Amino acid sequence: RSWSESNLPKRLLEIVSDVGYKDPSAIQRAAIPIALQNRDLIGVAVTGSGKTASFILPLLVYISELPSLDDFTKNDGPYSIVLAPTRELAQQIESEAKKFATPLGFTCVSIVGGHTIEEQAYNLRDGAEIIIATPGRLVDCLERRLLVLSQCCYVIMDEADRMIDMGFEESVNKILDALPVHNIKPDTEDAENPILMSKHLGGKDRFRQTMMYTATMPPAIERIARKYLRRPAIVTI
Ligand code: AMP
Repeated sequence: RSWSESNLPKRLLEIVSDVGYKDPSAIQRAAIPIALQNRDLIGVAVTGSGKTASFILPLLVYISELPSLDDFTKNDGPYSIVLAPTRELAQQIESEAKKFATPLGFTCVSIVGGHTIEEQAYNLRDGAEIIIATPGRLVDCLERRLLVLSQCCYVIMDEADRMIDMGFEESVNKILDALPVHNIKPDTEDAENPILMSKHLGGKDRFRQTMMYTATMPPAIERIARKYLRRPAIVTI
């Protein structure tokens, strides 16, 4: 199957073609159409599968459609965060994300250890639509009020099982609890229908979209999924 069957908008298909990805990988074929329906998702996939593009492309579609973006100022945003266990992975995600985000005019900033807090604040001075962060460092920045997540509505946890192994469960919980946009289930039949959910995104109500990528499903991962994901689709490749 080809990119044209992925339901991505034309502008992103052009960028994917410019980047040189001839065909979507298995995780991209499976996850992108589901994520584009605004469904939460658990992707069971490893590095090298093309998982980064499988969550970055739907993320870009989502934030492109936010009505508030028409008057984006540097005090707004971030609209999305990607959490990763290590600085190295965060930087790999940042470079992959920039291939698609930069041509659309979106800014990605990574928040990871190894930089001073001053450098981090400097990188955030002009605002960013997309933050890629390790959990400990992001909590640190939130506590110092270097950024607020009051508009953040699209969340990815990458290599979630490794984040737990590295002791980040509490930080991950703190971050997800700090988001103002929750996976609220309105008391209507509509809420069961992911297509109708997207109708709300262009209006006043915003629903968070939360995706988790993991190689394994230990109990801590199931706990986080139960707490923060809404009827997730599970994609295993
Ligand atoms: P990831 O699993 O996201 O770390 O991606 C592994 C590598 O595959 C990265 O270097 C990507 O740039 C590359 N890649 C991802 N998707 C594709 C694709 N559809 N076609 C060719 N290369 C890809």
